[in-house]
Amino acid sequence: MVLTKFNKPLEEKEFEIPELQDEGEVLVKITASGVCGSDAYMWHGHDPRTPLPIILGHEGVGEIVKVKNSKNSVTGDILKPGDPVLWHRGVSCGKCFACKVDKEPSFCNNRWVYGINRSCDEYPYFLGGYASHIILSSDTDIFKVPKDVSHEALVSVSCSGSTTAHAFELAPVKFGDDVIIQGPGPLGIYAVAFAKFSGAREIIVIGGTEERLKICSEVGATKIINRNKTTLEERNDLIQEYTNGQGAQSVFEMAGSPKAVAEGIKYVKRGGTYASAGFGEPRGTVELDCFKDIGNTNISYQGVWVSDASHTYQALQIALKYEELFKKMVTHRYPLSQATKALEKMDNKEAVKAVIKPE
Ligand SMILES: [Zn+2]
Ligand SMILES: [Zn+2]
Repeated sequence: MVLTKFNKPLEEKEFEIPELQDEGEVLVKITASGVCGSDAYMWHGHDPRTPLPIILGHEGVGEIVKVKNSKNSVTGDILKPGDPVLWHRGVSCGKCFACKVDKEPSFCNNRWVYGINRSCDEYPYFLGGYASHIILSSDTDIFKVPKDVSHEALVSVSCSGSTTAHAFELAPVKFGDDVIIQGPGPLGIYAVAFAKFSGAREIIVIGGTEERLKICSEVGATKIINRNKTTLEERNDLIQEYTNGQGAQSVFEMAGSPKAVAEGIKYVKRGGTYASAGFGEPRGTVELDCFKDIGNTNISYQGVWVSDASHTYQALQIALKYEELFKKMVTHRYPLSQATKALEKMDNKEAVKAVIKPE
């Protein structure tokens, strides 16, 4: 299903599956493809990286059909036809200054992402998840997944799961810390799981969608605040009450809204960290009081840009442990031909996670 014009329905197109060219290339039959909130953003033409025509979709799970010569998984298994796999969504070069010296593959100048910045106009065409197949380049980080695991439950591992793992690496939660999570979407749900595993005391989630908040409770949130049913002042009182009047050691912004930043930064305990992982694209600006919000509180403002393969590995471990819970995150399923519908459901937030399943 190809995005050829912004804001128009995706077009069904047929391509011949090409012969694999490079050693280590892998042809994968997609079994489940996640629709990300940022796909809807791209669909509207808001992401400056989007080349047309493109097959969207950067969250996928599938089964290997063919490997050109040989290719190992990240954990060292020789990959074979029939193996269920998922892959890290970004591909970095491993050779540039960011990769080699800074050890920050997320900043690699040559980094590209499946379903985000390569068109389906040229070989190998199949580079997005909204398709029957995908061709993984030889330098893609591929993870084998156990045979009997639900593929639906794993679709978010390489996007929201991985980015959340990065956020928790940059803003580590210690045993007994109070944590606040703004935004109960897939990023927020993963954040609840990571906070729980880290031994957080209170895990407070603020959000506006009842169904999403319910899933956060099921995963392990200890307190839920519906922002549509509370005033700013009421929310502030609740946060003070839940955190013994101190605010939280870590506040995770998983909402992608400048308004959330202005509010959430005030919930950070003195000396704590505000980690902002919700902005995958430009979303506007925010006004902060440099004295009251940052200087006097001695807080760290931590940006979080995408992730690398180590984070996808961590997210995979958490998803495997909580398979049943992460399955609940999938609220809508569509055949490939209805990919546009799946986009709409993510766009209007009716779906927590929509999954496309090729027929
Ligand atoms: Zn995504
Ligand atoms: Zn690089």
